Amino acid sequence: MSKGRLLSGMQPTGLLHLGNLEGALANWVKLQDEYEAFYFVADWHALTTMLDRTELIAKYRREVATDFLAAGLDPEKCAIFVQSDVKEHAELHLLLSMSTPVGWLERVPTFKEKKEQLHLETVSYGLMGYPVLMTADILMYKADVVPVGQDQLPHLELSREIGRRFNNIYGEIFPDCKGMLTKYAAMPGLDGRKMSKSYGNAIYLCDSPEETIEKVRTMFTDPLKIRKDDPGHPGGCAVYAMMDVYGQADMHDDCEAGKIGCMQCKKRLANFLNGRLAPIRERRNELVQHPERLDEILAAGAEKARKVAKVTMEEVREAMHF
Ligand code: SF4
Repeated sequence: MSKGRLLSGMQPTGLLHLGNLEGALANWVKLQDEYEAFYFVADWHALTTMLDRTELIAKYRREVATDFLAAGLDPEKCAIFVQSDVKEHAELHLLLSMSTPVGWLERVPTFKEKKEQLHLETVSYGLMGYPVLMTADILMYKADVVPVGQDQLPHLELSREIGRRFNNIYGEIFPDCKGMLTKYAAMPGLDGRKMSKSYGNAIYLCDSPEETIEKVRTMFTDPLKIRKDDPGHPGGCAVYAMMDVYGQADMHDDCEAGKIGCMQCKKRLANFLNGRLAPIRERRNELVQHPERLDEILAAGAEKARKVAKVTMEEVREAMHF
């Protein structure tokens, strides 16, 4: 029996951190064995927020692809590619945009949020059309499943609608894609808020062991626990929350009873993280030393993706009499 097809991507808007690793990448690594998987660096999508910083998109395109591989994606098992290397995505985006009502795009909750977040006076056509490009990414590979976070579910529902509308006009070309909700505890950042590159509270996959120790040293803990024997409150402590994500938070009672100090806890967490990140760093360093290897992997991934994309586009063009 052939494996189902799976597709997922990440925007190259910054370095990848522990939240990206445990929230998505670790799951992708498992899924590459169960599915015919396509993982891509969504560089055209990054233009919606980094239009005037394209040199950074170029930098992060490579960094994110490096992090994919460092996290354990295996180019022998899955296709790893850059979206803009497969031009068919742009063509399908254009064709789907013709049959997508503007009203559907205006209603997307993340569109409204982004508009406010970015303080945009004028909204670009590309920002509003973001879900159409995402639909093109998914439908191109006729993906059976798309691993998504809760916040992406409305986008996926819209993708289904866009695909159905296209099918209604031109015939059954695209299957209904299913979302695969990734369940994970949100990774807290150094300050206790959600880990995010925009908050400056992240531990990156490319951080050295020393940088990790130093970052953990600055993490937010219970401000009332000054000495080791002060009774603490693990509830609001970022160190405790991060240990909890990793199933390592067994210090609850000792913290409350003042039997353990914050420095001790932080040392444990830093050691744990450095152990978790050691194989990832090793693969990362290896790739950084041989940049031509990354070029080869991305070229082979794009080739694999294009093979599928070409077949889909031939079908689409024929159905549309182009
Ligand atoms: S002892 Fe540990 S769990 Fe308690 S506040 Fe300090 S770092 Fe947090």
